[in-house]
Amino acid sequence: MRAIVIGAGASGMTAALTAARLGHSVTLIERQARVGRKLMATGNGRCNLTNTGASPEHYHGADVCFMRTAMEKLPPEEALEFFRQIGLLTVTESGGRVYPLSNSANSVVDVLRYALEAAGVELHSGDRAVEIRGSAGDFRVVTEGGARLGAEAVVVACGGLAGEKLGGGRDGYELLKSLGHSRTALRPALVQIATAPEYPRALKGIKADCALTLRSGGSVIARSAGELLFTETGVSGPAAFDLSRAVSTAGDAPLEMQIDLLRGYSLSQVLLHVSARRESAPQLPCAELFTGALHNRLGRMVVKYAGLDAAKPVSALTEAELSRAAAAAKCLVLPVRGTEGFAGAQVTAGGIRTCEFDPQTLESRLVPGVFACGEVLDIDGDCGGYNLQWAWASGALAGRLGA
Ligand SMILES: Cc1cc2nc3c(=O)[nH]c(=O)nc-3n(C[C@H](O)[C@H](O)[C@H](O)COP(=O)(O)OP(=O)(O)OC[C@H]3O[C@@H](n4cnc5c(N)ncnc54)[C@H](O)[C@@H]3O)c2cc1C
Repeated sequence: MRAIVIGAGASGMTAALTAARLGHSVTLIERQARVGRKLMATGNGRCNLTNTGASPEHYHGADVCFMRTAMEKLPPEEALEFFRQIGLLTVTESGGRVYPLSNSANSVVDVLRYALEAAGVELHSGDRAVEIRGSAGDFRVVTEGGARLGAEAVVVACGGLAGEKLGGGRDGYELLKSLGHSRTALRPALVQIATAPEYPRALKGIKADCALTLRSGGSVIARSAGELLFTETGVSGPAAFDLSRAVSTAGDAPLEMQIDLLRGYSLSQVLLHVSARRESAPQLPCAELFTGALHNRLGRMVVKYAGLDAAKPVSALTEAELSRAAAAAKCLVLPVRGTEGFAGAQVTAGGIRTCEFDPQTLESRLVPGVFACGEVLDIDGDCGGYNLQWAWASGALAGRLGA
């Protein structure tokens, strides 16, 4: 069969390779000059290509069960075997995050590129698919450059809106909408959270291991834990990314983020610690109360946040002031203003409705012969390699072209 795959990102390259290995004649259309441009930027240039703990609770969408077949056919260990066979050695780090042993995302793109060449996939790059015409068994994909490419099956693997400079855009949604498909609301996820800037700006560049709680109107709406990075406009890093989906989808109600800077210690343990400091280092200025427990700048900021006089000696702190200091370290509250939007996002929450596709094949229920995979569908994962795992698994299933 002749097949066209639109989009040479993670899912599209996997789909094209799978189809070609099954003996189909495959053309892979890529809007950008090179394949896998976004992949090269993943994991800060290291590409966190999967997570050994990938399971449904790490994914979101209207129907997460939709992904079950794809993930059963290509679970993380199979994805790693697939990569090993095409030449990639990997290393598994804490939290089950898997990276190329080379520490370079380019290695992932290179092995995929060579495998595509070896399998005889024809690459049509630097040109954008703008229309899918025809119906089952007789499709024509029209490109901006004027090409009219015929095929019996088409795989839409155009990705989502996240990371615009790296290839994110609306094309996948528009191409599928033109065939009668519909989508859910699109929101940025795995993105920096914008907060009231006063404290983050002063702490810019500092990382801390924290527990975060997101609250709306007094109720907890999401929690996360892990590394937090303070930025000019708010907070970033894995712990912030994991809350960002909830920020994006929370609506207009005011949100606040509570930061526990000493998550391994209870409030009473922190209180004991600062009380002991008052005894053991009475001459220390109050600004240094948390020196040794927190990054120095962070400790000073907690003292300021608690409203203590930084110059006063620790010995002069009252019980109430010590309690305020301990409480501030366990619960520093930042009003949340939103997220940094799609340009800075790693993934799109929402997408083409999965109920319009057969989960066993990823074939359209509306237009037989059309398949979709990856981020264009209404599935998104947590931070930690889950989104690429979905891209490989769904690409491999769609690339079977219903077989
Ligand atoms: C900065 C950044 C870091 C990330 N880090 C990680 C990470 O470490 N681990 C992880 O699991 N996930 C990560 N992600 C998310 C992950 O990269 C995506 O979820 C994944 O790439 C989606 O794969 P995809 O194939 O659906 O889309 P993409 O990889 O976005 O590929 C879509 C491709 O289609 C092309 N295209 C679009 N429209 C057309 C058209 N009309 N014609 C032709 N071609 C078209 C695009 O140019 C693009 O190459 C990161 C994302 C970003 C932005």
